[in-house]
Amino acid sequence: MAECRDPLDELDAGLADLDAAGLTRRRRIVTTPCRPEAGLADRSAPVLAFCSNDYLGLAAEPALASAAARAAARWGVGSGASHLVSGHTAAHEALEARLAAFVGMDDALYFSTGYMANIGVMPALVGRGDAIFADKVNHASLVDGALLSRAELIRYPHCSLAALEARLAASTAPRKLIVTDSVFSMDGDLAPLPQLLALAEAHQAWLLVDDAHGFGVLGPQGRGSLAHFGLTSPRLILMGTLGKAAGVAGAFVAGHHSVIEWLVNTSRSYIFTTGAPPLLAETLLTALDLIEHGDARRAHLAALIARFKAGLTLTRWQLLPSDTPIQPLVIGDNHEALAVSRALDAEGLWVPAIRPPTVPKGAARLRITLSAAHSFEQVDRLVATLKRLEARHP
Ligand SMILES: *Cc1c(COP(=O)(O)O)cnc(C)c1O
Repeated sequence: MAECRDPLDELDAGLADLDAAGLTRRRRIVTTPCRPEAGLADRSAPVLAFCSNDYLGLAAEPALASAAARAAARWGVGSGASHLVSGHTAAHEALEARLAAFVGMDDALYFSTGYMANIGVMPALVGRGDAIFADKVNHASLVDGALLSRAELIRYPHCSLAALEARLAASTAPRKLIVTDSVFSMDGDLAPLPQLLALAEAHQAWLLVDDAHGFGVLGPQGRGSLAHFGLTSPRLILMGTLGKAAGVAGAFVAGHHSVIEWLVNTSRSYIFTTGAPPLLAETLLTALDLIEHGDARRAHLAALIARFKAGLTLTRWQLLPSDTPIQPLVIGDNHEALAVSRALDAEGLWVPAIRPPTVPKGAARLRITLSAAHSFEQVDRLVATLKRLEARHP
């Protein structure tokens, strides 16, 4: 009989291995609302944060906080049950109608989180014997959705249309689903959505677009990446998250009427979970107003991105080509990326080091994110500090 290990010893050995590889994750305790000047339990002075996905600065927006307080007074806190039992309120229904109209789709479905939306949609559309075609650097939740579906997972090199086309042509799967981030969460670049849709239509495949980082930021009035490219098709299914640019929580899936009806009937992460608090749905109606009328926020954000990119000239570290608020600075080595993040911290700047398995091995990076809540002076301070630190690391 094989020797039996104490399971706790095994976990401790695993944790020690992570530590040795510079891969231990630690959570920092934040003591202020989400905003550029962040209070942390382990520091006496606030730090300047470049790490949230609060691209429009709505997470701590007072108008949203008062909308939430009003909604709590109207609805209480919990929904009390899943949507198919008794937890689907008029607030959820109104939000779904508003979301569908905003992104120009027939219908929309509100999920508790983007992770749950992704793991709920993919298994509802494809299963054993079918095929999912996925960009290699897609978000982890899309990988998990694919695994749960039991369809064959066929990954293509990042944004490689030729490789995708060859794999689609070679597949005999009865149902095909192409899935991609619109704005890649760790790289900041945009997927070639018009070409992906053309391939989906040519091969009778679904195209599921994860717009976590595009919704609210891209497209006219922040309607997202499909609107940015002007794309419509019954093959398209859009997933957008509502805890990033929208500043609240949750996610939605939008598409053809029949797609949404099918999800209501079969999507397990929609059906077998308690409905999100109706106060969040109602607060999101106000968030959508702020997004729709948020051209000034988006213009300021675009100006910050341009200023950051123009100011940051580096020789050793590589800023990835991105025009979105996600500005990744590739350092390479895990320990060096951590060291740079710590050096920034010592200067009062909070920029997280992102390491494998979130990004490929050897491509550890600082994931710098900009928000409309930042000022030009704050971005200038980040640029100056990064230049100084690079000169110090020969
Ligand atoms: C954040 C994110 C998700 C998950 O959304 P949550 O609402 O945070 O669960 C899904 N996809 C991508 C690309 C993301 O960045």
